[in-house]
Amino acid sequence: MSCVFCRIVAGELPSTLVLESERVLAFRDIRPAAPVHVLVVPKAHVDSLFELEDRELAGELLWAAAEVARREQLTGGFRLIANTRHDGGQEVGHLHLHVVGGRRLGPMLAR
Ligand code: AMP
Ligand code: ZN
Repeated sequence: MSCVFCRIVAGELPSTLVLESERVLAFRDIRPAAPVHVLVVPKAHVDSLFELEDRELAGELLWAAAEVARREQLTGGFRLIANTRHDGGQEVGHLHLHVVGGRRLGPMLAR
């Protein structure tokens, strides 16, 4: 298995878990762009948001992002980012939502 996030889900690579639900895992980004930077991923491999057709999974991913923000006490707000495919700057080919916050963010954030 070569997908880095599949390996994290399988426990083959270490991660700092923030949340686990039935079909979703959230863990800290290894190169945080802000004080809070968490990745929310489906446990089952999906290439990117473009391939996400499962509406229930879509809901669970969005719920998990909100739950991460609450657990991390991002009361001032946060940003949810889904870099998608080449033009979106996606580097890891396993769907992930970035939950970024803990400071005032600029108008754009590359990752
Ligand atoms: P993207 O450009 O949206 O594909 O972002 C991929 C993100 O995954 C980057 O922010 C990386 O820092 C992060 N990342 C890559 N490998 C790991 C890992 N092993 N554990 C946690 N985060 C990772
Ligand atoms: Zn994967």
